[in-house]
Amino acid sequence: MSTRSRRADRGPGSASPTAAWWRDAVQPRLDIARHVPHVGAGLIAVVTAVNVALGVLPIVFVITSSVMVGLVPAAIEQGTGSPSWTRMIYMFLAAAGAFLGRQVLTPLQIALGELVKRRVDGRVIDEIVAVALRSPGIAVMEDQAALDDLKLATSRLEHGTETPGIATAGLLALAARYLQLAGFTGIVVWAAGWPAGLALLATVLLFRRGQRGGLRRFSKVWEEVAGLIRRGDYLREVATGPGAAKEVRIYGLHRWLTSHYQRVSMERLRTIWRWRRRVYLQPYLYYSALGVLGATYVVFTLTDGVAAGTVSLTALSMGLQAVIAGLMLGAAYPESDVPTQFGMVAESGLRRFQARVAEDLPHTAAGAGSGDATGRPARSVRFVDVSFAYAPDSPNVLDGLDLELPAGRCTAIVGVNGAGKTTLVKLLTRLYEPTSGRIEVDGADLRSYDVDGWRRQVSVVFQDFIRYELSLADNVAYGAPHAARDDREITAALADVGLLGLAEELPLRLDTPLSRLYPGGIDLSGGQWQRIAIARAMYALRTGARLLVLDEPTSAMDVRAEAAFLDRFVDLVRGATTVLISHRLSSVQRADQIIVIDGGRVAERGTHEELMALPAGRYGQLYRLQAERFNLTDDRPRARLAPTRPGRGTDRDRDA
Ligand code: ADP
Repeated sequence: MSTRSRRADRGPGSASPTAAWWRDAVQPRLDIARHVPHVGAGLIAVVTAVNVALGVLPIVFVITSSVMVGLVPAAIEQGTGSPSWTRMIYMFLAAAGAFLGRQVLTPLQIALGELVKRRVDGRVIDEIVAVALRSPGIAVMEDQAALDDLKLATSRLEHGTETPGIATAGLLALAARYLQLAGFTGIVVWAAGWPAGLALLATVLLFRRGQRGGLRRFSKVWEEVAGLIRRGDYLREVATGPGAAKEVRIYGLHRWLTSHYQRVSMERLRTIWRWRRRVYLQPYLYYSALGVLGATYVVFTLTDGVAAGTVSLTALSMGLQAVIAGLMLGAAYPESDVPTQFGMVAESGLRRFQARVAEDLPHTAAGAGSGDATGRPARSVRFVDVSFAYAPDSPNVLDGLDLELPAGRCTAIVGVNGAGKTTLVKLLTRLYEPTSGRIEVDGADLRSYDVDGWRRQVSVVFQDFIRYELSLADNVAYGAPHAARDDREITAALADVGLLGLAEELPLRLDTPLSRLYPGGIDLSGGQWQRIAIARAMYALRTGARLLVLDEPTSAMDVRAEAAFLDRFVDLVRGATTVLISHRLSSVQRADQIIVIDGGRVAERGTHEELMALPAGRYGQLYRLQAERFNLTDDRPRARLAPTRPGRGTDRDRDA
């Protein structure tokens, strides 16, 4: 389903009334109710007892205080110490006890709600993380509607307000309110008859419908503005976070960021205001008019009974109190309504995100085989007639691509920006699946292997690699998190990329945080970070990976550093199956084969010499163009990659 149609599906006011009622009012409550068993039997028992007591105590208060009022004439007449006097005192004490009990239990209800919230929200956070990581592919994490749903699910959890946990406590708290309503209705039935009791019940439920319905419709607006909230969060993070601090100041972006943030905020608020007027004002007037009619009828029935002599003083007091307290139940419940509604919005966001992930699973690796990928590729990786588009309605990025990566050899892939080189890596690492065609590893479909097992064979340096604000050792060891940290191999991987000297000079050595934002931390240059990313990949290779993919691995290094690094790289990766993507053709000329991609297909294939010899070949043209720019020569001695074991690097090019 496309982003647009998924959005349209859930805007306020779509779908048939019954379907919309089920979707918006019933299903979210069922979703919240499913958390109740996880709160814990003991806590649920205590919460239920408190809520039942809070439901019963006001009824006890109305009954006992009314009986007390009814006893007043007889008690005065018979004097102190008479049975009527004593009963009146008992009733007073019972009413006072009910009042005080309510005062004590109300804060306890809030405290217990907090406990329920913590237990439920802890589980919900775990669930969000598990769902977000469930899909082995990354299509969901690049889908706007899915990201909006994820935002709805997480934003209130981040702020700790109106979360699914508070909604669970809020739902349980409704027991107190509806017990009170049942009690007050019963009292009015006893005091003034069935019609008056039913009129009170209908009036309160009508008010509630107006309140809750308005709130429910209003909460849907948050789904409409989820994208704007996400945008606002991003702008705030750019403005205040350390990541963009340099550019924000140098380019003077703060004015632009502030005005953009204000625009986004105003758009969000205007949408909310528009809906608030629409969903609250008119229905509120309409329900209020009906409510006033119902209440007037009940009160008149009671006073008529008094005039006719059928309603006693006790019954009048009880009836009036029950009507007033009952009508107050037609208002919003602060402990329940808002938190429940918005908690349900967060829960619904999570459910939709979950469904989106499940929708995606058959297309990604989860439905695939369990073959053991250890030690592969032993012969080759082949792309067979592979086509791929990011969305059904977008053009093919790869279009019938056929290519072979021989095991133990280095294949360089070149092509203009946007040719599909990184996309090819995403397919190879199964972050996406081909739209058609297949990828074979040693003759078997890649999908027949266990995805995690395959990924342990693959080691990738992406162009947009991550700079973890963690220790130097962790930054390297994350290349093989499944293996125990091995400081000897970490040091060797750092030596591979020429960073051993740096590691030895650091105050905390391998445990030095790679960020000045932490005590003892240091900042690295762009080129050094790139070496760290390569060291991570080398560590993976040293601990068992077989396929090394480097996507523009030297883009942050200067030409001299790049040349020195690539000279050593030849030795480092010997024996591994290597894919080297680079737009600098000087860096790929030593590869065993070079593949030029154009229009989603292989345009040229061969060694550097073979491609240079092609008359009017693209590679030759590009190479000569770059050679003129960088003053490269074609006669530099080149050692072709020959299969041996990964080498132990020296620190020769540390400063290059
Ligand atoms: P290269 O690595 O050769 O520069 P890419 O594989 O990154 O090219 O991109 C190929 C094409 O796919 C480009 O047109 C790019 O805009 C598009 N593309 C890349 N990533 C995505 C994505 N996540 N969603 C949609 N289109 C994408």
